[in-house]
Amino acid sequence: MKLNYQENENKFRYVVEQFADLQLLRYRVPGFESLTLKQKKLLYYLSEAALEGRDILFDQNGKYNLQIRRLLESVYIHFKGNRQDPDFLAFEVYLMRIWFSSGIYHHYATDKILPTFSRDFFYAAIKSIEPCNLPLGKEETVDELCERLFPVIFDPEVMPKRVNQADGADLVLTSAANYYQGVTQEEVEAFYAAQKNPEDTEPVMYGMNSRLVKKDGEIHEEVWKLDGMYGQAISKIVGWLEKAEDVAENEQQCKVIALLIDFYRTGSLKVFDAYSIEWLKDTESHFDFVNGFIESYGDPLGMKASWESIVNFKDLEATHRTELISSNAQWFEDHSPVNPAFKKEKVKGVSAKVITAAILAGDLYPASAIGINLPNSNWIRSVHGSKSVTIGNLTDAYNQAMCGNGFREEFVYSQEDIERLNEYGGLTGDLHTDLHECLGHGSGKLLPGVDPDALKAYGATIEEARADLFGLYYIADQKLIDLGILPNHEAYKAEYYSYMMNGLMTQLVRIEPGCVIEEAHMRNRQLIARWAMEQGQPEKVVEWVVRDGKTYVKVNDYEKLRVIFGQLLAEIQRIKSEGDFESARALVEKYAVKVDLALHAEVLERYRSMHLAPYKGFVNPVYTAETDENGEIVDVKIRYDEGYAEQMLRYSRDYSNL
Ligand code: ZN
Repeated sequence: MKLNYQENENKFRYVVEQFADLQLLRYRVPGFESLTLKQKKLLYYLSEAALEGRDILFDQNGKYNLQIRRLLESVYIHFKGNRQDPDFLAFEVYLMRIWFSSGIYHHYATDKILPTFSRDFFYAAIKSIEPCNLPLGKEETVDELCERLFPVIFDPEVMPKRVNQADGADLVLTSAANYYQGVTQEEVEAFYAAQKNPEDTEPVMYGMNSRLVKKDGEIHEEVWKLDGMYGQAISKIVGWLEKAEDVAENEQQCKVIALLIDFYRTGSLKVFDAYSIEWLKDTESHFDFVNGFIESYGDPLGMKASWESIVNFKDLEATHRTELISSNAQWFEDHSPVNPAFKKEKVKGVSAKVITAAILAGDLYPASAIGINLPNSNWIRSVHGSKSVTIGNLTDAYNQAMCGNGFREEFVYSQEDIERLNEYGGLTGDLHTDLHECLGHGSGKLLPGVDPDALKAYGATIEEARADLFGLYYIADQKLIDLGILPNHEAYKAEYYSYMMNGLMTQLVRIEPGCVIEEAHMRNRQLIARWAMEQGQPEKVVEWVVRDGKTYVKVNDYEKLRVIFGQLLAEIQRIKSEGDFESARALVEKYAVKVDLALHAEVLERYRSMHLAPYKGFVNPVYTAETDENGEIVDVKIRYDEGYAEQMLRYSRDYSNL
């Protein structure tokens, strides 16, 4: 099913499109307008460098992906038949899914996406197109092209899974990812084991930037570098990076870019490590970016890294918020409702860095992470640390898309609660996360002699509950209004309502029928919500209401709810500080694990009936460079009006490098 969203003209349209199990959102780039011309040039060059690598990921995700994409795009562009025909509509959805996954396998599940249009339709559509518009191989006929690609597209038995993790199988031979050719898992493991030296305290990430191939009985690496595999795309990337180097903000950033160029030239993993270390040291620049072979989830053996890029700059306002919170850490510790014996005399807050994404590419596009922690090299992490960021404008787009997608209308009790959530929910959700991360985990202390692992399997749930409760207690505090972080005494109610509704009901959509809750964060949320509800029972602080056969959570007294959260925080901190295993076990087993079967079934049914898409991705903004008569960039403009298919077709036209 495909839905096009129409919203009122003046409003930024966050939801672009929805089909299959996917929803495409648009994100804003706040702060772009106030960048200097030099910064805008840097952003432009780095975003071009990001887009040039697109084909690399398609090829990494499967040997035939690029040819299949080009064949589908030819049909999509040149098809002369009825575009409302059910087969054509099914074909269109298929193509949009292939774009989304950068290949023919589901981006998350990694199973082959099977077309729901017929082979006959597809064959006839291809035959109706001029052969010069088709991606034919050398001296290949149209029929030969179809014979070669149709089994890969239509046959569920042919190369069925991109990343196979099934125990006992040869994971290399049974995975369709294009990282290996003609080698067995055993041969791959032996090849890399021979390179490793156990004495080496600074080992490179072996095999990270190459395809391993057996040819004429010999195994060798095809390295991804300027004069190697993917060289055509890499030379374009390097060209833009060289321009970026010229407008870098400072010497350190220059050094980082130069090392990255050197890595793309040589393919040397030692150079990549040197680059990573210098990249870690660059904390002063306003801009930052990743461009390269980074994550290895796409390789069943976890070595080969997929190509990705993100360009970003500091979100000064949000980072100011987390710095403000953490610089007041001692005040929060001193005023918490916890027994003074369990408080830290000296507490240090953690400041989370918030960034604004300007472009997403490769394995971060369209589906993106909302937090990034790099580099991945273990020895560099332990010696030099890592950079950890959250991407504020993507979280914001997720939050905005929640307004008006029907979810709140379905599950929230009253219009007043819905309006409060629409107005403050994004802000208070972020703020609760900040309080949890910057203060919650770092507060409190163990009594002398208490084993930090005393709570054993219940430890993680209790720890998350402690951090969440610290945030819940303080999000309703006058202090946040005094600090200028919250606008008024109403806003916190949005977080209280959504926390209770989520903990009591809606998070159950992620649990399979008949199962219990196992994940620590989910356990903690149900623990807090159920305990608070039971505690406030006599005064009906929070109650269940059934209306038209549907169950709702109704909060009657927000101020009293805060007192209850404070009581539970004091108790949870006591359990942690004393290492009281029995109390931890009793609380978790009573409130956090079991699921109310009837309520669970009802929530699943209501969620299903709303056709919400479980996976989301993003359409990028469009950057256009305006030049003078000498070709010098005089301004860079940003636009948010490009559609999903339009963007994908433009990228295929302008950045088709392989
Ligand atoms: Zn946590």
